[in-house]
Amino acid sequence: MSSDYSKYFDYNATTPMRETALRVWQEMAAKHWQNPSSLYREAAETKHQLEYYREGLADVLDIDEPDRIVFTSGATEANNAVIRFLAENTEGKIAISAIEHPCVTAPFDAFVSPERQIRTPVDANTGAVSVEDVSRLLSENEVAAVSVMAANNETGVIQPWEELAELCTSNGVLLHTDAAQWIGKLPSENLGKCDFLTGSGHKFGGGKGVGFLVLPDSEIADKFHMAIGGPQEEGKRAGTENLPAIAAMVEALAEVEEHLTEEFCSTHTANRDHFESQCEESLGIDVIGKEADRLWNTSMIVLPHTKNLKWLTRLSHLGFSVSTGSACSAGKGNPSEVMQAMGLDFEEMGRVLRISGGWDTSAGDWKELARALTAVEADLDASVSRD
Ligand code: PLP
Repeated sequence: MSSDYSKYFDYNATTPMRETALRVWQEMAAKHWQNPSSLYREAAETKHQLEYYREGLADVLDIDEPDRIVFTSGATEANNAVIRFLAENTEGKIAISAIEHPCVTAPFDAFVSPERQIRTPVDANTGAVSVEDVSRLLSENEVAAVSVMAANNETGVIQPWEELAELCTSNGVLLHTDAAQWIGKLPSENLGKCDFLTGSGHKFGGGKGVGFLVLPDSEIADKFHMAIGGPQEEGKRAGTENLPAIAAMVEALAEVEEHLTEEFCSTHTANRDHFESQCEESLGIDVIGKEADRLWNTSMIVLPHTKNLKWLTRLSHLGFSVSTGSACSAGKGNPSEVMQAMGLDFEEMGRVLRISGGWDTSAGDWKELARALTAVEADLDASVSRD
């Protein structure tokens, strides 16, 4: 297996497992394979490890009560459960932003009745939700809950979840935040301010098929049963817990959080910005959400001409992995809701590439990618003139 990720620019889709996570996964699978719900000594040790990792995650998220955490199979399952819970257990309207991931919008459409639905727009230039808009919305409507992600998976644009947490708390409204793209890229310490919080292991080197959900308080926790039929996770999610995956995820997160200093983030932002300037100059690309606060790893660009799939395929031949948009809609021809919310027309959407680097992506790797894009453009020009 190759461990050279210098040409991998699709970290928002998924990430390779960190070495530490792989090691812990193997150790746990070999040593603590007993069912945590069984009653003998070895099983008790498995249960003990499970609670140790729940406390470890609570620590990283700065949450005082670890039992507010439910381990899940990922962010999709967790987001589905939250939206369904809100639909079935609250009265009043539920508002989501126009740029939520399909694993929020689909359950929203499926479980929230149309008269209870509100979609809040984003600013077409920055791609960010406006706190003022949400504030107005809360004063004009009977709102029970708001769902706004922490950072967008396509544009990387950071959303004002911290201000929204304050606003929602002071209005007695529940806030759900899908932090799948934030966690592991920016410090997690304040995310506990959101009432419902969801995260995903494979977005930060923690492995696939594992994630988590944080519940607001014990009153809600007592009513929350996303899967029934067993006592696991205090009856909130029945099914034998996957300790190796949970341990790997928490170890990966604890390790990755160590990197997230201001210096780390600003160096990576500068590398990404330099790549964008180079491509603006040499190719005449447009950068989506350029004026906004964005994740340091993400660049969503509109190419000067020709369908994005042609660029993607040629880049792939050169060894580079990029995306035409969120992996969940890539290749399906569905217009991206995020791009629509930011005012792109259908033709422009067909020229978009999402480029997302990782923790070890260097300035040199970004330069190589810029060079490869220039080579692809020359190749495309030549093939057009040959046509
Ligand atoms: N939410 C966001 C913002 C995402 O980017 C993704 C994955 O692309 C998910 C949720 C789904 O996460 P998972 O793959 O853990 O189900």
